[in-house]
Amino acid sequence: MYNAKAYSAASATSRLASTTIPRREPTEHDVQSEILFCGICHSDLHSVRNEWSEFMPTVYPIVPGHEIVGRVTKVGSAVTKFKPGDLAAVGCLVDSDGTCPECRAGLEQFCPNLTLTFSMPDKHLGGVTYGGYSESIVVDQRFVLRVPSNLNLAGAAPLLCAGITTYSPMRRWKVGKGKKVGVVGLGGLGHMAVKFARALGSHVVVFTTSPNKKEDALRLGADEVVMSRNADEMQKHAGSFDFILDAVSADHDINAYLNLLGRDGNLTLVGAPPKALAVSAFSLIMRNRNLSGSNIGGIAETQEMLDFCGQHNIAADVEVIPIQKVNEAYERLLKSDVKYRFSIDMASLKSE
Ligand code: NAP
Ligand code: ZN
Repeated sequence: MYNAKAYSAASATSRLASTTIPRREPTEHDVQSEILFCGICHSDLHSVRNEWSEFMPTVYPIVPGHEIVGRVTKVGSAVTKFKPGDLAAVGCLVDSDGTCPECRAGLEQFCPNLTLTFSMPDKHLGGVTYGGYSESIVVDQRFVLRVPSNLNLAGAAPLLCAGITTYSPMRRWKVGKGKKVGVVGLGGLGHMAVKFARALGSHVVVFTTSPNKKEDALRLGADEVVMSRNADEMQKHAGSFDFILDAVSADHDINAYLNLLGRDGNLTLVGAPPKALAVSAFSLIMRNRNLSGSNIGGIAETQEMLDFCGQHNIAADVEVIPIQKVNEAYERLLKSDVKYRFSIDMASLKSE
C-alpha cells in the first residue's frame, strides 16, 4: 500500500479539498498509472452532493472522477496488455466477476458483483474505492483501456464516460444515415452525442435552453438548433424524430420531447435527474413510441468507442482546469456553464 494525493469531499455539503488516500501496490494483474487528466462528469457532482441518495447513497469521504487518462508507471507480472510508459484510460468500472451472464455478454456495468471506480467497497484494501481526482490509480488490466495516440489527452479523458454513455445507445438504436436524431442538453454528454451522431451520418438537431450555445452546437456538428423553451420552434419538429438522446441533468418536461418522436421512435434517457420525471401515457401511446434508458457501456464497447474516436479524430471540447478550481467548476456545471467538459490537469495536484 502507498499514499496518493487526491481531492475528496467529507460530506454532502463540504467543498472538495486536498487529502491523501491509500492505493494498493499493483498485484500480478494490475496496472498502475499516473493520472494525467480527469474529466468532471455531472455524476461526480450528483454523487458528491448525495443527490442520488435514494438509489445509491454516497459513502464519505468521496474521491470522485471516472474519466481518467494516464500513463502507466508499473505493471504486475501477469499483465500483457500494458507496459510502463503506455497511455492508459479508466472509466466508471474497475472490477466485475467476469463470469456472470452480464459479464459474458460484455455488459460488465450490470454485473451483480461490479465495482465502480469510486464509492464502492474496495475488495483489496477495505473501505471504498477512490476515483480519478488523484495522482495515481491501480486497476486490473481487464478494466484498463487503450487511448488512440492521435487524440488530445485532456479531450480524450471525457470519452471514458461522456463518450461511451452517448455512443452505446446510438449504436444500439442504429443511429446512422437517413435518421433524424435529437440531442437534448448541450453539456458534457450532449456535445459528445452531437459529435457521434454527426460522425454516424445522421441529421442532428440540438435542443438547448442556452441561447449562447447555438453557434457552438452548429460548429460541433448539429444541422439545426432548437431553443427548447420556445414552443413554436419545438412544434415545428412534432412527430419527426427517429431517435432522441436526453442528456439533461435536472428536472424537465420529457413529454415535450416524446411528442417530437415519429412512429416507433425512441427516446433514450442518459441524463439522471434525481427527481422522477412525469410521463404522459399519451406521449407514448400515440405513434407507438418507446422510452428507454442506457447505462454507460461495457469494456469491449468502450474500447470500440475509443478506437472509433481515434479513427474519426473525435475528442471532447474541454476547458482544462487545475484541481484547485474544482469547486468553482461544480458551481458552473449547475449553471449549464461548461464548454463542454471540464478536464482537470492532474499535474496541478503536485503543488498540494
Ligand atoms: P452537464 O455537462 O452539466 O450537462 C447537462 C446539460 O443539461 C446542461 O448543459 C444543460 O444543457 C441541460 N440542463 C441543465 N439543467 C437543465 C434544466 N433545468 N432544464 C433543461 N435543461 C437543463 O452534465 P453531463 O455531465 O453531460 O451529465 C448529464 C446527465 O447525465 C447527468 O444527470 C449525469 O449524471 C448523467 N449521466 C448518466 C450516465 C449514464 O450512464 N446514463 C453517464 C454519465 C452521466 P443546455 O444548456 O443545452 O440546455
Ligand atoms: Zn460520468
